[in-house]
Amino acid sequence: MSSTHSQPKPAAHPPIDLSSFAGGHPVGGGGWIERVNPADTTELVGRVEQVDRAGAVAAVTAAHTAFLSWRATPLEQRCAQLLAAADSVAASAEEFGPLLARELGKVVGDCRGEMGFAAACLRWCVEHAEEALADQIVDDDLGRLVVSRIPYGVVTAIVPWNAPLILSILKVAPALVTGNTIIVKPSPIAPLAVTAALSRVAEHLPPGVLSVVHGGPDVGETLVAHELVRKVAFTGGGVTAVAVGRAAAATITPMVLELGGNDPALVLDDVAFTDSMMERLIFGTFLTSGQVCMAAKRIYVPRARIDEFVGRYVEVAAELLVLGDPLDPTVTVGPMASPQQRQIVEDLVADAVSRGGVVHQLGTVAAGTDMARGWFLQPTLVSGVEHDAPIVQLEQFGPTVPVVGYESVADALVMANDSDLGLASSVWSDDEHRAFEVARSIEAGMTFINCHNRAGMSLRAPFGGVKQSGFGREFGMAGLSEYLQSHSLHAPAMARPGAAHAAANSYPGQ
Ligand code: NAD
Repeated sequence: MSSTHSQPKPAAHPPIDLSSFAGGHPVGGGGWIERVNPADTTELVGRVEQVDRAGAVAAVTAAHTAFLSWRATPLEQRCAQLLAAADSVAASAEEFGPLLARELGKVVGDCRGEMGFAAACLRWCVEHAEEALADQIVDDDLGRLVVSRIPYGVVTAIVPWNAPLILSILKVAPALVTGNTIIVKPSPIAPLAVTAALSRVAEHLPPGVLSVVHGGPDVGETLVAHELVRKVAFTGGGVTAVAVGRAAAATITPMVLELGGNDPALVLDDVAFTDSMMERLIFGTFLTSGQVCMAAKRIYVPRARIDEFVGRYVEVAAELLVLGDPLDPTVTVGPMASPQQRQIVEDLVADAVSRGGVVHQLGTVAAGTDMARGWFLQPTLVSGVEHDAPIVQLEQFGPTVPVVGYESVADALVMANDSDLGLASSVWSDDEHRAFEVARSIEAGMTFINCHNRAGMSLRAPFGGVKQSGFGREFGMAGLSEYLQSHSLHAPAMARPGAAHAAANSYPGQ
């Protein structure tokens, strides 16, 4: 990533150098990725060494060798090692939280939270592993059936940049506790903290059980298409998912795909626009500068209440949203992660204005913020647009949100479901029963009630998409099950020694 500012200033933190690691040791050979600070693009945060295609193959081979003994390791021992890893990653929050903030632009409290989440996710998976792995046994007059649950083998995890450790551990924890081994390929946009934190996890595991390799699309596709890779877990955009799907098809490799969303928030006519309600919706939109798959990305409000809504939204956001350096603990909105993504958002807002949209600036800028040094963009709410505007139709993935009026709940549902995507969504009502009823009609993998985004997540609640937002689930028992396949062991009664010869025309199971 090249710098966009011409006057370097002395770096407060020396740049960090990290390597990919596989088979228990550092690997490289594919050149270096450099990452600058999105809040101050004159600062080189660090570099990470990539692998080439041969390095990717070597990582798969090492992961396969490790699998042969890891799957045979008693569950109790695997769990003990993963619990020790959870303690280590939790203890790394002070060290790697600020590093993540500096490479990604996400506010530092949320970055420390990624390490806390990683520890909690590891512990949750350990706690539920025995249940996920338990045999299902039926022994009756039809015979004896044992459905055992077995790991796949080597898993490749490909993750995006916006929550790099959270989105990695959601694959690493369930895959490892169930006996698989895993290779994580992070995004070049946030490669550093995830590598450092996962190396803390790997220190507690046998070599090759957990590897992290960096590289371009060729490395990613090698990690997907290799015949020893038995499962692919991908989180990212739809265009990349098609390339990953093509590569996986070559070896009939099953996938979990967690893709983009254009999440509708349906505000019903009975809601009081209290500070608390507005705060939940505003943070549901602007966490990580709106660069979150499950952020509220279009808000539908009864047409008769739009002016009231906009007034309250702007008023409460003025108190909550502070744009600036993500290391400043008073800042709640950092810069964007790339100038390209900022341009996409600016273009969508400009297009909305050309259609008669009205842009409402939200929040304040922290004192001392040099907007020209980073990829900053002040949050905005856009009113006066209709459902067919690109800012409503497309996943903006940045700090702006359109508000659209509706006449009836039925109309609002038609607009909410008028999308190829179906990741998350929300319904807002002071009548929770009514909200749940409306929520049933939304085409999405997750509908939050009276909240949106991170606040609505739970380790026990399966999360994923419908339609082109992907398939498969993370979180909960469904997320653990993604890394297990069934193996049926069956002795039908008629085949048991001493059993009477089965009638030739009997139907299995009757
Ligand atoms: P992206 O699709 O550009 O990249 C995702 C990953 O794929 C990166 O690691 C990238 O290096 C890798 N990659 C790129 N080309 C590849 C190829 N040919 N083969 C294999 N790997 C390849 O996505 P992004 O810009 O990093 O992330 C933003 C997108 O991710 C948004 O659409 C967002 O909604 C989505 N997302 C979804 C979830 C979810 O849980 N559903 C969570 C976060 C982000």
